[in-house]
Amino acid sequence: MTTTSGPAPRPGILDIAAYVGGEAHGTIRLASNEGALGPSPHAMEAYSRLAGSIHRYPDGGSTELRQALAQRFNLDAARIICGAGSDEIISLLTRSYVGPGDEVLYSAHGFLMYPISAKACGATPVAAPEKNLKADIDALLAHVTPRTRMVFIANPNNPTGTYLTADELTRLHAGLPSDVVLVIDAAYAEYVDAPDYSSGVELVEKHPNVVMTRTFSKIFALGALRLGWGYFPAAIADVLNRVRGPFNVSAPAHAAGVAALADTGFLERSRAHNTQWRTWFRDAVQGLGLTVHDSVTNFVLVDFAGQKPGKDDAEAARQYLKARGILVRQMSAYGLPTCLRVTIGTGDDMRTVADTLKAFLES
Ligand SMILES: *Cc1c(COP(=O)(O)O)cnc(C)c1O
Repeated sequence: MTTTSGPAPRPGILDIAAYVGGEAHGTIRLASNEGALGPSPHAMEAYSRLAGSIHRYPDGGSTELRQALAQRFNLDAARIICGAGSDEIISLLTRSYVGPGDEVLYSAHGFLMYPISAKACGATPVAAPEKNLKADIDALLAHVTPRTRMVFIANPNNPTGTYLTADELTRLHAGLPSDVVLVIDAAYAEYVDAPDYSSGVELVEKHPNVVMTRTFSKIFALGALRLGWGYFPAAIADVLNRVRGPFNVSAPAHAAGVAALADTGFLERSRAHNTQWRTWFRDAVQGLGLTVHDSVTNFVLVDFAGQKPGKDDAEAARQYLKARGILVRQMSAYGLPTCLRVTIGTGDDMRTVADTLKAFLES
């Protein structure tokens, strides 16, 4: 019995270790997977044009943006929901479908917002082990219990950079009970060019228990505006529309999102830039004798395990980079303490990071 009095939050909430975002005070910011080229100039213009009308409430139905998304991806606009980042969509899903006593399943190195959102609802997050930093379908299915209500898969996954093929996702879905919601978080879908990859749309079209979430924060580089969206079976869309705030997406976010989506040339340049510099950076850093794990995204995991004593310390490397103005992400919260996650930035950024890692190893 405690002697303090005052309001207590719901069970589970004090078990949450609050999400810590990537550091933001440095000259080369590669800690949050923000698009290397910044936002499309058209998106910036659309955002600025709204300055004189920010006294107006936004369109609560995100109508124009949903129509643009529907057209672009050949989807049913009525089953798209926009949110303040895909983080909001994740939270709407857990709030709507899981509660105390329920389990939320994810893979061991999955995105941290999954266990956080589960705990915020009083549910128990359950992590299934991975194989070679990749989600393991058999392990996930083996961890399904009668209490499992939701399964989260980031595809591709942050922070590992690995992906499941369309066939693997189909096999995962086929093994789940029909009352479990499978959430496919495709935040990095636009970066992937593997022919056996799919964002998961076909599964959403076919099954009443599969949803897909997407974001404008990564390749579209609109993180500050907080804009994400999801595609849902009709019944789940109906549930989320009842639960979400009536004006959950701002008008400047709507406008910038529509403009970013229309700027297909910029998207192509961003994708090509990423592929080119991810390959360059991997080769450069492997050339230094460090391990770089395969990635289909706009970030890579650099692994310091196996380096000689002193140089096998990822945190020492991170501090060395930070002292030189370079911010990358620490991975101990993800159970990967020997790794640093490095976002693919501009060509100059990547040359500087590679040079600085070389200096660290030689220091
Ligand atoms: C960055 C990220 C998100 C969150 O994006 P927002 O739309 O900015 O909330 C969701 N899922 C994964 C896997 C991410 O890496």
